[in-house]
Amino acid sequence: MAVDPYPVDPINPFDLKSENGYTWLKGNLHTHTSNSDGRISPQERVDGYAGQGYDFLCLSDHRIITPVDSVTSPSGLTLIQGVELHPENPFGGQNHHFLALNVEQDVDSGKMPPQHVIDAVREQEGSIWLAHPYWSSVNILRDTLPLHGLAGVEVFNTTCRCAGRGESSVHWDDWMAMTDRLYPALAVDDAHRHEDDPDRRDTYWGWTMARVKDTSPQSIVDALESGAAYSSTGPEIHDIRLRRVDDGGEKDRLVEATVRSSEAQCISAVCDAFGIEYREPGRSFETAVFNLRPNARWARFEIVAPDGLKAWSNPFDLTSVERA
Ligand SMILES: [Zn+2]
Ligand SMILES: [Zn+2]
Repeated sequence: MAVDPYPVDPINPFDLKSENGYTWLKGNLHTHTSNSDGRISPQERVDGYAGQGYDFLCLSDHRIITPVDSVTSPSGLTLIQGVELHPENPFGGQNHHFLALNVEQDVDSGKMPPQHVIDAVREQEGSIWLAHPYWSSVNILRDTLPLHGLAGVEVFNTTCRCAGRGESSVHWDDWMAMTDRLYPALAVDDAHRHEDDPDRRDTYWGWTMARVKDTSPQSIVDALESGAAYSSTGPEIHDIRLRRVDDGGEKDRLVEATVRSSEAQCISAVCDAFGIEYREPGRSFETAVFNLRPNARWARFEIVAPDGLKAWSNPFDLTSVERA
C-alpha cells in the first residue's frame, strides 16, 4: 500500500531564495477539453492559459489522458500530463474525484477500488490529489480516511465555486486533524467552458504558485508535494517567517508568525485547534504578526484581499520551529 508522500516537516517555499536559483511559477493543474466534457480543444485550452501568462498547465480530462505531445506547447508553458480519475466509492459516498499528475499510462479507474487507483498512479511515479471534496460531498472520515497515498487536496476549485461549493478548507483541516499529517493544497480552475463564456466563467480564477529551480514537470510536482507552493485566487504571499519566542510561563512553546502579502483586508492563522484573525479596521495592510497558541502543532495562513479574493499557504509544522 502506498504511503502518504507529504514529509513530516514540509518545505517553507519562502526559505528557497532567488539567489539560489529559485523562482515562482504560476499554474493551473485541473482543466478539461473536448477529449472529455470540456467545450474547447486541447490546443485551444493550452493557448488560452499560455495567453494569460501561466507557466504550467495540466489537461486533466475525465478518465483518459490527453497526451502532452498531442498539442503544441507555447514556449514558456510547461505541460504536466494528467487525468481526473473516478473510482467507485466503496465507503458509501459518491464516486471519487482524484486529480492525477505526471502519469504516463491510463488507469481504468471506473472498475477499480480507490486504493488500487491511488497505488496504480503512485507506481508510475505520478502524484494523486483529492479533488474538490466540498463539491463532491466528501465525508473525510467515511470516504478519505481509509485511503493512503494521496498527496493533498484542492482547497479551491473555480468550477465548484460556480456551483456554490468552491472552497474545501474545512475538509482540508478535518483531514489533517484526523490523520495527524500535514497535506499541501492546490487552487485550480477545473475549466470546462470556453474562456469567454459569459454566463459561467470557470477560467483564470484559481491557480497554484510553485517555488522551483527548473521548469520540468517533475520539479513542479515535487514542489507541490513538498509544500513549496501556495494557492491563490488573487493575493500574493511574499513571505512567512516562524520563530519560537519566550513568553514567560509558556517558555519555548510559543511560535510567532509573520506573514507578508499583497494588500490584505484580513489574514488568518488557522491552527490544528483554534486560530487567529488579524485585521486593521478601516484600512488594508501587508504584514500581520501572530502569536500562535502555545502547543499548536501546525498552522496555515489565509489572506483575503480588499476585493474578497483569497490565498492559502500550505501548513507549517510548528513543532520543528527553532528558536531564533
Ligand atoms: Zn471532478
Ligand atoms: Zn474536473
